[in-house]
Amino acid sequence: MTPTIETIYIGSDATGKLLDYVAAKGLTRFCIVADTNTYQALGEQAEAALKSKGYDVKSVVLTGAEIHPDEHYLVKTFVEAPIGDLTFIAVGSGSITDLTRFVSHRSGRDFIGMPTAPSVDGFTSIGAPIILAGVKTTLTCQAPIAVFADIDVMANAPQRLIAAGFGDMIGKYTSLADWKLGSLVWNEPYDAEIARRTQAAVDSVVAHTEAIRNHTTEGVRILLEALIESGICMLEFGASRPASGAEHHASHYWEMQRLKHHGSTMLHGAQVGYALTLIAKQYAKIRQLSRAEALNRLEGAVVPNREEELAHIREGYGDMADDVAKDHHAFLNLDENSFDALKQRIAENWSEIEALAANVPEPEVIAGYLRQVGGPSTAAELGLVEGEEAPGLEYGHYLRDRFGVIKLSRVLDVPIV
Ligand SMILES: [Zn+2]
Repeated sequence: MTPTIETIYIGSDATGKLLDYVAAKGLTRFCIVADTNTYQALGEQAEAALKSKGYDVKSVVLTGAEIHPDEHYLVKTFVEAPIGDLTFIAVGSGSITDLTRFVSHRSGRDFIGMPTAPSVDGFTSIGAPIILAGVKTTLTCQAPIAVFADIDVMANAPQRLIAAGFGDMIGKYTSLADWKLGSLVWNEPYDAEIARRTQAAVDSVVAHTEAIRNHTTEGVRILLEALIESGICMLEFGASRPASGAEHHASHYWEMQRLKHHGSTMLHGAQVGYALTLIAKQYAKIRQLSRAEALNRLEGAVVPNREEELAHIREGYGDMADDVAKDHHAFLNLDENSFDALKQRIAENWSEIEALAANVPEPEVIAGYLRQVGGPSTAAELGLVEGEEAPGLEYGHYLRDRFGVIKLSRVLDVPIV
């Protein structure tokens, strides 16, 4: 069943629109989920407005320096949320929305999204990235029944959250290139119309970089519309593939390592934006190969050794290695025949591979966009320390059973950044 989002409102007075909506639907009991910042920015106001109409409202205000959809905060939300028939309202950005998505879904209730910053593209998606025992897993849950985004609250969101939303959005440059590549050589399902719409959303934010940097209501609206469009594209496609490629895999790997060793993470979109500069560099290397050189390299390529690959996964993932390997079985099980067939498909589609690589901007151009909106464009600005960057590219691709530029580089023996 395709979940339906009945209403998406982006504008002033989102709380007023929320009241109209719940009255029309006959909803009377609510559980608001927020953190201390987002409660102050919008949650308190939404709670007061709902109470003024005589509705029953309970607010779960989560506290802590960094809120993740992990065991601690999931249980806390489950414990504090009232029992019985009610509608959840997520007031916040990515993590609050994901927590609410999971808790509402697993309690058999609907939820309404009230994003407070245009920081991620997950507001309308069906999957909730949940962190269990330090591993980030996307679990199928549900989309909100409605989204009310208050443009005035968003325009006052911290710069770093707006820059993160921009980073998550332009990350689609390489998500889309990787997706096309996977469809050509790894038989991954592809939808040209969804790809076109996602690309159009990227183009619209790039064309309004200045307005986004200046937090104008128009800039913030364009960014949020693009993020929501990207989320709807994932929803309609039924998977994150249109909006997540090698740049997301590197980001997920950094995040997992950070959680394991420091218990904290960096902003998702900030990581994705910086990872995009690295993956764009990888696509630039592919562009530099002539057809003859590519074919020559294919000729010499040998099927990866299963034991060596498993050892590599263990090196990168430690005690999480078994789970990662399980999700990666199609690659681990490549034999001479299937590897030859893969090489054949790469050779046959080389012109198309050149074309998709040509759609990825130069890394310097990407870094320029990121600088323009005030987002991190270097490892130091992002906060990566010595030795932290490379493993994201080396091991990140094992997280998904998908074929992208990192796997292509490995087949062609092109050094990874
Ligand atoms: Zn993302």
